[in-house]
Amino acid sequence: MRVLLTGGSGFIAAHCVDYLLQGNHSVVFTVRSHDKGKKILSNHPNVSQDKLSYVIVEDIAKEDAFNEAVKSDPPFEAVLHTASPFHFNVKDPKKDLLDPAIIGTTGILKAIKKNAPSVKRVAITSSFASIINTKGHPEVYNEDVWNPVTMDEALHTDAATAYRGSKKFAEKAAWDFVEKEKPNFTLTTICPPLVLGPVVHYFNDLSSINTSNELIRDMIQGKMKDELPTTRVVIWIDVRDLALAHVRAIERPEAQGKRFFVTAGSYRNSDIVDIIKKNFPDLASKLPAKYERDPKDDPFKFDNSRSKDVLSMEYRSLEESITDLVKSLQAAGA
Ligand code: NDP
Repeated sequence: MRVLLTGGSGFIAAHCVDYLLQGNHSVVFTVRSHDKGKKILSNHPNVSQDKLSYVIVEDIAKEDAFNEAVKSDPPFEAVLHTASPFHFNVKDPKKDLLDPAIIGTTGILKAIKKNAPSVKRVAITSSFASIINTKGHPEVYNEDVWNPVTMDEALHTDAATAYRGSKKFAEKAAWDFVEKEKPNFTLTTICPPLVLGPVVHYFNDLSSINTSNELIRDMIQGKMKDELPTTRVVIWIDVRDLALAHVRAIERPEAQGKRFFVTAGSYRNSDIVDIIKKNFPDLASKLPAKYERDPKDDPFKFDNSRSKDVLSMEYRSLEESITDLVKSLQAAGA
């Protein structure tokens, strides 16, 4: 298939490029600048231009941002929309998180309907953030659950609530679009929790690493020597498994029209320290010497069986993911 991949400079998208190419798809990714586009292409020196190229989309929060990017010769057959802000440096929740997430999602769907009738399948990276209820966990988390954040709470509480709102309202807007507009394509959404694993994407230096890997970067740089923070997200997935889930979401007919909750299971920050200590003895002096182990009991139950049944997901272990992540951070200068 010929695939348009948004947010090509991102942590997750970089692995989507790899898995799409392995699956013999041809990929056009979006980036905000030629600098980023050229840098990413230079990571794939042996891939021809008809297999991998880029198109500029400067700001997905602009209503018509994708109108030209969705046009291609040969035409696109599928779209993976990963681009969306994931950070907590928020001054204006609407401008910094909600608009790019929601308008970015509705904008690309409108552009496909208008200018790319050849597109038959669209997969969107949503999040466990669109599922988790921080005020009270349900009996079990699965694809039927949505967070209860209101737009008012998203706009006026804090950055984390704004992020959860951005992911929920964007994903809901996508499902509403398909229901009301009845476009020529089917939709799947993928909801990962904390994403860990090797960094292979575009970033300037370790200070600008993507949000979900900040914890491990800080750990191996000695910033948690005195105190290990309490585990925040509690469940996780390896970025390579997530990228594979995206590719299967557009490849498999049986995945169409479905929401997928993808996770390898639970983790504790203390488990991560244990893994780094075991596999990288040289880093021991940077890690917390003494730390409380978080309770082993999971704070909630979750059901990832749809991802196993429909996408055949087999999840990597935390040890493999953390070990490969630390190696990649060291290669990047940590
Ligand atoms: P990154 O920050 O690495 O990637 C985000 C991508 O979105 C970048 O390519 C970024 O471009 C692009 N982007 C953000 N805002 C805009 C904008 N206004 N205009 C154009 N491009 C924009 O994060 P991840 O790879 O981790 O996240 C990718 C997706 O996965 C997001 O949808 C995120 O919500 C979701 N997700 C991530 C999780 C995680 O733990 N990492 C967990 C659950 C979901 P640029 O680099 O130029 O800013």
